[in-house]
Parts: sequence; structure tokens; C-alpha cells
Amino acid sequence: MEYNQLLDNLYEKLPKKTSSGERFEKPIADTFFQGTKTIIRNFDEICRTIRRKPEEFAKYLFKELATPGSIEGARLTLQTKVYPKLLNEKISNYVDQSVICNECGKPDTHVEYGQPVNTLICEACGARRPIRL
Ligand SMILES: [Zn+2]
Repeated sequence: MEYNQLLDNLYEKLPKKTSSGERFEKPIADTFFQGTKTIIRNFDEICRTIRRKPEEFAKYLFKELATPGSIEGARLTLQTKVYPKLLNEKISNYVDQSVICNECGKPDTHVEYGQPVNTLICEACGARRPIRL
């Protein structure tokens, strides 16, 4: 095995550090391919974990992954093959940007929709910050 690959493998196994050090565990997508489509089996569960509406989170994924898709029951179908690594990166980014509170690092937040900005409100510490969705 190449040394670099060895390092990569090692890195993959290390727990990911989060800036806030919170104990909240980011959801991981449980996916499989169906032909050229990608199905996220636990989409419903992911949305519950991050406390966001499935339609809202799906919209983000469609945009970020540049693929159309549809919510089917508890699952999300993406019209292209999306590898789990990329998908989980997008989920992780979303959690960092639009779920976790900057002040206290807790995920107990909700979004107040407004024009021109949406506001992320933390239910744990009351912090507010504008976010883009
Ligand atoms: Zn907070």
C-alpha cells in the first residue's frame, strides 16, 4: 500500500473534529443506487435529526448536488449517482451552516423565514444569526 493512501485511510478513521466540540452526531445518509439514481433510505430520519422540513433540506441537496429529485415517503430519490462521501459532506456542511448554533454549538435551532434574510434562532441560548438556505 502506498504511504499516502495509508495516511488517507488513517485520516478517514479519525473522528471528525467539530469547531464547537458539541456532542451532536451529524446524520449519515444511508444510500443505495438504483440504476443511475441514488436513493437516500433514511432521509426522513436525517430531517428529524436536524429538525428541518424534508422539502427544505431536499431543496438544498438538489441545489448543492446539481441534480433534480423527489421525496418519496421516507426516502429521497436523486436523479443521478451521488457517492456517499460527497453526499455526507453536503449534509455536514448544511449542519454547520444552517443548524448548529455559532454561540453555544447546540443543534437546537429553528429558522425564522423572512425577507431579505432568514434567521437561525437557537432555542438553547437565544442567539440569532442570519443564514442563507
Ligand atoms: Zn445557542
